[in-house]
Amino acid sequence: MKCECHGHIIADGVSYAAAMERHKNGVDFDYVRGTLEKVRGCGVDFYRDGGDKYLVSAYAKTIAGEYGIDYRTPIWITHKKGCYGGMYGRAFETMKEYRALVEEALRLGADFVKLTVTGMLDFENGGEILGRPFTGEELREAVRIAKGEGLAVMAHVNGADFILEALDAGVDSVEHGFWPDERVIGHFLDTGAVWVPTSVTVYNQIGAGRYDDDVMRRILKAQRDVLVRAYEKGVLIACGSDAGANHVYQGKGTDDEMRLLHEMGIDPQKGNEEIMRRFKRQ
Ligand SMILES: [Zn+2]
Repeated sequence: MKCECHGHIIADGVSYAAAMERHKNGVDFDYVRGTLEKVRGCGVDFYRDGGDKYLVSAYAKTIAGEYGIDYRTPIWITHKKGCYGGMYGRAFETMKEYRALVEEALRLGADFVKLTVTGMLDFENGGEILGRPFTGEELREAVRIAKGEGLAVMAHVNGADFILEALDAGVDSVEHGFWPDERVIGHFLDTGAVWVPTSVTVYNQIGAGRYDDDVMRRILKAQRDVLVRAYEKGVLIACGSDAGANHVYQGKGTDDEMRLLHEMGIDPQKGNEEIMRRFKRQ
């Protein structure tokens, strides 16, 4: 099986703003069909979406079977108001609101919950982590509530301390995981969580002229050093490209990420299988 374990079908890798414009007044059905065709044309038969705020992935899931794609989605990113997640998400302020969002996503066909623990990296400023993190007891409770509904948790998180916190809270997968350190390895092994590094999101910026290539290389090297050792020690690593992100194209992005993993000597098959097994409604 060829797996895309982290994509956002709503976006095309070219322009986030144009993608939002395209669907904001209702899902562009032709776009979704065209994209599923493209993804399938690259041989992808499993696609785990990271969600979006205009229900594009929810629609994609209903027709993906026609394209021979096993499609899973959290519907949207569920994020704490004021923390990262607004680009693809719905916000909550209280845990009561969080629960209501999870229940609404379930009614719309959600297979799992996607949370954002930290923001993205600020590529303009050395790759530092952006935004206010979602941590502590609220994070743990959010994971518990998802588990109580039989749902696995996909967590967008960067930075060693935050990765540790997410793993200790019981998330099932760590998305991105840039700026890790050696400590995360033991926590991945103890919890059995899967790491979806999406290295291509940074790699494809090299030479694109938008950011300082040295910064991109530094971010990649820091991740790669820990990833390789993590894999050697048995951490499950899956192939997800964050397809739809800037310079990461649907279908092709999956191949790009696979190539990067193979260059690191990482075979994502076991990680992919674990994602397929866990990220399904129990
Ligand atoms: Zn995502």
